[in-house]
Amino acid sequence: MNVFLFGPPGSGKGTQAKDLAERLGVPHVATGDIFRKNLRDGTPLGKLAKSYMDAGGLVPDSVTCDIVADRLMQADALGGVLFDGFPRSVPQAEWLLAWFASHGRRADAVVSLEVPEGAILERITGRRTCAQCSATYHVVYNPPGAVCVKCGSTDIVQRRDDTAEVVQKRLDEYAAQTAAVLPVLRSAATVHDIDGTGDIAAVKNRIFAALHL
Ligand code: ADP
Ligand code: AMP
Repeated sequence: MNVFLFGPPGSGKGTQAKDLAERLGVPHVATGDIFRKNLRDGTPLGKLAKSYMDAGGLVPDSVTCDIVADRLMQADALGGVLFDGFPRSVPQAEWLLAWFASHGRRADAVVSLEVPEGAILERITGRRTCAQCSATYHVVYNPPGAVCVKCGSTDIVQRRDDTAEVVQKRLDEYAAQTAAVLPVLRSAATVHDIDGTGDIAAVKNRIFAALHL
């Protein structure tokens, strides 16, 4: 089953992804996490992605689609994936639907998280991220302890692109390029519009109910 977590930066996609992927029995594929891992590992892809990420822009479509194609051919992804942060532009969405068609796969469902911009800014500027495994926390709503509960690392940091200035650029990019992806996905899959406000458990319950999980 191929499911998409869709919504602006900070809407809670990564937070909801772990339990949802586990329940669906598919891997969580977050393009932002793939870029950050390449950055940590010092690969050429990481170096290229860094300049776009630091400025709050999108990594070029051709680069992003190539890494997604590679990921989708890995053994654990053959039965479906939970996408998080992809597709993020209309060309990426069109590329993916064509790729699915030519590989006998299909888009099943979209979970579109709706959160007002004021809450988004508060969520992103308070976000803390495990530099090792990308698990996310929030200084108020989900405070991190001394070590990451998912991997035990003590390396819990504020992302370089989570400053108020870069966040605004990312929200502008979302409005300019990503919002238009939803109608494209709607043409291929069932879209569930989910209220993304309220606590993390309440949002999870709404998502699971919408997907009959
Ligand atoms: P995205 O993956 O969509 O960019 P995240 O899942 O990283 O967003 O969430 C952004 C921040 O908001 C994180 O710090 C996270 O802990 C926090 N957060 C996520 N969901 C909620 C929620 N329902 N209520 C309060 N804070 C939340
Ligand atoms: P995220 O972790 O989803 O917030 O993504 C962090 C950054 O990675 C974004 O601001 C982009 O620079 C880059 N990125 C992640 N996913 C994509 C994508 N699908 N297309 C282009 N750039 C992306």
